[in-house]
Amino acid sequence: EPILQLKGVERHYIQGPRKLTILNGAEFMLRRGEMVALIAPSGAGKSTLLHTAGLLEKPDAGDVILGGRACGRLSDDERTAIRRNDIGFVYQFHHLLPEFSAIENIMMPQLVRGLAPVEAKARAAQLLDYMQIGKRGHHRPAELSGGEQQRVAIARAVANAPLVLLADEPTGNLDPVTAGYVFDALSALVRQSGLAALIATHNHELAGRMDRRVTLSEGRVVPI
Ligand code: ADP
Ligand code: ADP
Repeated sequence: EPILQLKGVERHYIQGPRKLTILNGAEFMLRRGEMVALIAPSGAGKSTLLHTAGLLEKPDAGDVILGGRACGRLSDDERTAIRRNDIGFVYQFHHLLPEFSAIENIMMPQLVRGLAPVEAKARAAQLLDYMQIGKRGHHRPAELSGGEQQRVAIARAVANAPLVLLADEPTGNLDPVTAGYVFDALSALVRQSGLAALIATHNHELAGRMDRRVTLSEGRVVPI
């Protein structure tokens, strides 16, 4: 059952006098429970693909279909609302709020969505347990290791139980052993929550542990 679909997606950037085509009729489908690795050289358009799939950028042509709903043509406000509920993002650097504890960082998207603090806190504590850092919830990001910070960022990304998790080099800042452990925790979370994940990575070992691998070639998504 498709959770996320890209249909004929085009993205162009104007750079001075030049028109740069990054996505050129891209087709892609992500199913529930699936983890797909996106492997491509820098500049190939990984961030553009993730941002378009995640409704941060509008396709210039084609459409993004999320949970059966066509989202490409919606207004910015509508896309923002869908993004808050249905999409989780993780980046190479955690972007946690430094003045808040881990548990408060994980509560934040739920509070933005209007959940009661007591419920948001219970959910955040549960996610910390799933990510195997249940005892670290009261620490601020600066007091956590790199791997712990990324676990918190992942927990925050899925706090609102999104349909899709989009990750741009989520372990790119970690040593290989830590990267493997953080990936294990991420992958357990995806499997057990029925999420679907598209994960850009340069780590071929981790890519090999996902269900499928794709790359970008001439603006299209192709299997590798
Ligand atoms: P990747 O994530 O694979 O490194 P990106 O999607 O970030 O690739 O970028 C693909 C290409 O598009 C690059 O050549 C980049 O310079 C260009 N690009 C990305 N974003 C913009 C933008 N907002 N305006 C102009 N060019 C952009
Ligand atoms: P990454 O590929 O690590 O995700 P970025 O997406 O930040 O890195 O940038 C990738 C490339 O896209 C860089 O070459 C950067 O110069 C270019 N780029 C990103 N945003 C813009 C922008 N707004 N205008 C022009 N180029 C951009």
